[in-house]
Amino acid sequence: MTATIRPPKRPRWRSLALLALLLAPLLWPLQQLAERYYSDVLNEQNRQTLDLYVANLLGTLRRYEVLPQILGDLPALRSVLQQPHDGAALSRANQLLQQVREQTGADVIYLMGPDGKTLAASNWDRKDSFVDRNFAFRPYFREAIAGRPGRFFGLGTTSGKRGYYFAAAVREGADNLGALVVKVDLDHTETLWGNTPEQLLVTDANGVVILTSRSDWRFHASRPLDGAERAAIAANIPYPTQSPPPLQLDPQTWIRQSRELAETGWTVSILAPRSLIDRPVRNAVAAGGGSLLLLILLLGLLMQRRRHYLERIALDARARQELEQRVQERTQDLELLNSRLKQEVLEREQAQQELVRAQDELVQAGKLSALGTMSASISHELNQPLAAIRSYADNAGVLLDHQRTEDARGNLRLISQLTERMASIIAHLRAFARRDRHAPESVALQPAIDDALALLAKRRRAMQVELIRDLPEATLWVQAGETRLRQVLGNLLANALDALGEIAPPRRIWISAEPTATGVDLHLRDNGPGFSSEALQRAREPFFTTKTSAQGLGLGLAICDTLMRALGGELLFANHPDGGAQLTLRLRAAEHGTQRSLKDVASES
Ligand code: ADP
Repeated sequence: MTATIRPPKRPRWRSLALLALLLAPLLWPLQQLAERYYSDVLNEQNRQTLDLYVANLLGTLRRYEVLPQILGDLPALRSVLQQPHDGAALSRANQLLQQVREQTGADVIYLMGPDGKTLAASNWDRKDSFVDRNFAFRPYFREAIAGRPGRFFGLGTTSGKRGYYFAAAVREGADNLGALVVKVDLDHTETLWGNTPEQLLVTDANGVVILTSRSDWRFHASRPLDGAERAAIAANIPYPTQSPPPLQLDPQTWIRQSRELAETGWTVSILAPRSLIDRPVRNAVAAGGGSLLLLILLLGLLMQRRRHYLERIALDARARQELEQRVQERTQDLELLNSRLKQEVLEREQAQQELVRAQDELVQAGKLSALGTMSASISHELNQPLAAIRSYADNAGVLLDHQRTEDARGNLRLISQLTERMASIIAHLRAFARRDRHAPESVALQPAIDDALALLAKRRRAMQVELIRDLPEATLWVQAGETRLRQVLGNLLANALDALGEIAPPRRIWISAEPTATGVDLHLRDNGPGFSSEALQRAREPFFTTKTSAQGLGLGLAICDTLMRALGGELLFANHPDGGAQLTLRLRAAEHGTQRSLKDVASES
């Protein structure tokens, strides 16, 4: 997979804040909606309250509307108007009015004469009685006298209580006898209003507040008064003041709902403080804002989770990519290694071929060298028996000269034996050169030593070499080859004689045997000059010699060493602490075998 997945950028809380800022204007329509909703609710409530209040007010007023008309027809009251000075009639009228007032719940009911003077009243027995008081100035009286239903709102001049006056003329045919007035108490309609944040406002035709739940608004003018109105106020005295102070109501603070009362010319209003809807609107906006914030937070959270998810995917993808890349790299490495290995194998094969070729060449060279070594060995090994043959032949000649035929025959027999031995040596050397190996056999050690000594006896005697033998009587059987052992012993003894030739007598050769754990150590020691330090190191090398070319070829010890190793033994050489060389043949013990003579040995191939 090569597609790279970029991890998404970190969600910026700044961009979320920006989003919040962008979404914030959404709160405005929310506010509008909430405002509309809550003002609708409030308006509906207020409308109902207003309806109730208006119904109540109108009910109160209407209850008394027709009362003056009805009462005016009562004979008891009419009689008072007809005979105003009849005390008993007056008293009855007062009683009647008082009774009616108690029954109807009106504030005051009173009977006025045609001049406006009160003749009888329901409150006749009270201190602030209307009796004998003249209310001709009140418009309701004028209206009633004029034959119209008299209606008037005003502050009671005596009681100081607000009231609504209904007046009707009492007629006798076309004559006006007087007027009957029912005053309704309005103060209580105000007290009906509970202690609510909404306020009641009832204004009369002049726009002056006559009833209100707020005492500081009472008798204030809700609009400017014109001249006629001012004059009417001055004349009728409906309010405690001649010029009502203005009432400023801030439309921003109050939500107003009004209803006109056609019959009275009043306007009933409910004023609800705007704060009533401000608070829930604020709450709604706050809730909206909170939700928005929550939404944004959720969005942020979602974005963060999404980012984590994408990051994880990206991480996985990256890890996979890295793994694939590593695998690819490893594969490439392996391929490289493989091709290198192939190359190496090829080179190795070539080298092998070259080696084989070189080995062939070496073998060839080795063969040549072996040929050289062999020819050198042959001449070396044959020189000794040849010398012996010459000496036996010379002796035989001398013996024949002296007619010692038997002795001469003996010499000739010895010569014959020696030639046989030479043939054997030649065959042996050939076998050695071919690396033929005879399986080791049991060989008696002492006879072999005797044979080797016999070959060199003459020379030893000539050189006056003393032989010191320290060998056990019992035959020591060792693993060896008859010929090879004799050959080795002959070589070592010849070397000893060569070395002893370099010194003046006394010349000695020690031959001793020492049993070991595995067999026998045969020591051959002389009191010659010993090995030079170089010879100690290199004597085993073919052609190493310290002698002249006539004396030595440097093959003796090399051959002996090879033969000993082929026999499973060992050739050790060192200088004896008392001087001279000491050579040791380390031979393995063998089973007892059959002893053979020199002839048997010579016939051995
Ligand atoms: P060669 O006798 O033809 O020199 P060898 O291999 O038999 O060859 O001997 C190698 C050398 O080891 C001799 O040249 C001589 O220096 C040394 N050597 C062998 N035997 C003796 C000995 N008995 N005493 C001193 N040196 C010896």
